[in-house]
Amino acid sequence: MIDNLLKEIGNPDTIGITGHVRPDGDCVGAVLGMYAYLSNVYKDAKIRIFLEKPAEMYSFLKGYDQIDESFAYPGQFDVFICLDSGDIDRIEKADKLFLGARKSICIDHHVSNSGFGDVFHVEPEASSTCEILTRLFEDEYMDTEVARALYTGIAHDTGVFRYSCTGPDTFIALSKLVKYDFDGSKITDETFYQKTYMQNQLLGRSLLESILFMDGKCIASSIDRRAMDFYGATGKDLDGIVNQLQITKGVEVAIFMHEIGTLEYKVSLRSNGKVNVADVASYFGGGGHVRAAGCTMNGTFYDVLNNLSLHIEKQLKDAGIL
Ligand code: 5GP
Ligand code: MN
Repeated sequence: MIDNLLKEIGNPDTIGITGHVRPDGDCVGAVLGMYAYLSNVYKDAKIRIFLEKPAEMYSFLKGYDQIDESFAYPGQFDVFICLDSGDIDRIEKADKLFLGARKSICIDHHVSNSGFGDVFHVEPEASSTCEILTRLFEDEYMDTEVARALYTGIAHDTGVFRYSCTGPDTFIALSKLVKYDFDGSKITDETFYQKTYMQNQLLGRSLLESILFMDGKCIASSIDRRAMDFYGATGKDLDGIVNQLQITKGVEVAIFMHEIGTLEYKVSLRSNGKVNVADVASYFGGGGHVRAAGCTMNGTFYDVLNNLSLHIEKQLKDAGIL
């Protein structure tokens, strides 16, 4: 665990920052928040960001235009920081830069993260990586740019301060951020709630085609390659669909998947508390949190569903719910 982040980072000339593939709001907020913060601390250091390009709606954050999608860097970094990634496989192209750095630091909140890098700081109780960073960052180097990036991340991972991961410490962290001059509701409106017409159509389609099973305790839906191509959609356009499935009355577990290759699905799992979906996802090589997890699986939609169902059903039976 890290007590003093700046002491841990030391006095580097070069710093690299990365997050996980298909970065979500917490990942983007953490990476760009770290960039803005370290830019205030290390005025002379060369700071680089390596990340899959996040959606355009995040372009109001400082450093967005500095994001390097090429992952190409000729030298070795003094310090390389990995944020919000539960395992090293999820930083894909940045792994060589991370492993090759003089010092590698991992900061994360996934319960499935057993820790990697020279120094790691994992707080599974934290709502978000941005909440952890808010605690680790020193007031002296905070400013509006840092605060709004961290606020964005906390808002996303807590479903705008609603999910059960939102605790007293989350609000303490938020109280540190909201004193800066930014419009929090504009951020949540424009990056969390607002959907394009196409995204709403995909949501509608997913709800229409969803199936309810296991006595109404489980709901599942999927979007196949053909539909993705028809709408010109990418995985990012499907964010939030699984959460809508999850709030179906009576449901314990929601499963949403989309086809990413031939007979290959990216799976999102959500639990309302009785089932540990991090365990289910970990069994299939993925991971995440107790109530929100994911993995990639092979087979048809029904193959994948059957495989997942076995594990979910067992947990529901063990909990006396089925
Ligand atoms: P989502 O369903 O929103 O993609 O992901 C939910 C949570 O599970 C996120 O915290 C995400 O980081 C984690 N997660 C999703 N897919 C994977 C995966 O393939 N591997 C691991 N380790 N974690 C994942
Ligand atoms: Mn996160």
